[in-house]
Formats: sequence, structure tokens, C-alpha cells
Amino acid sequence: MFQLLARLIVFLVIISVIRRVVKIAISFWAGLSEPKVRPSDFQNTPPSGGPNHMSLVQDPVCGTYVATETSLKKIVKGKVLHFCSEACKDKYSG
Ligand SMILES: [Zn+2]
Repeated sequence: MFQLLARLIVFLVIISVIRRVVKIAISFWAGLSEPKVRPSDFQNTPPSGGPNHMSLVQDPVCGTYVATETSLKKIVKGKVLHFCSEACKDKYSG
């Protein structure tokens, strides 16, 4: 019984070793046949910068960051405040 188990383990070890050797041999062979694969396919440059650079400002009431383009604005003491919603805008004044 133990002999069978031992044989099985040895068999598995041998297979894993062979697999590793084959892998190394294949990679070595590929390296010999193709000197160096040039990454010419990676010329697709990502679009630099977003379409609209939106600056984020913090809502003084709830603390949410809102984009200046979409925020509700209110001028308080000469300062422009940005709110995420009408409710926050009302809360600030009240
Ligand atoms: Zn808010």
C-alpha cells in the first residue's frame, strides 16, 4: 500500500519536473527563434487629459465634493460657495 503511494508521489514529482523542463526548453527555443519581440502593438496612446477638466469643491453643509460646473452656487460675503443640492443651499442660509 505504501509502495503504491510512494510510486504515485514519485510519478507526480517526475511529471512536474518534466513539465518544468519542457517549459524552460520551449521558452528557450522561442527565444532563439525570435530574438526579441518588439512591442510595436503598444502604440495606442491613451487620450491625454479628460474632455473637461472639472474642479471639485466641497459642499460646506454636507461635505460632499461637487463639480463646479454642476454645483449650485451661492455668493456669501463675496465668496462663491458650491452646494450639491437645493436642500444644502437652504440649510446653509438657515
Ligand atoms: Zn450637500
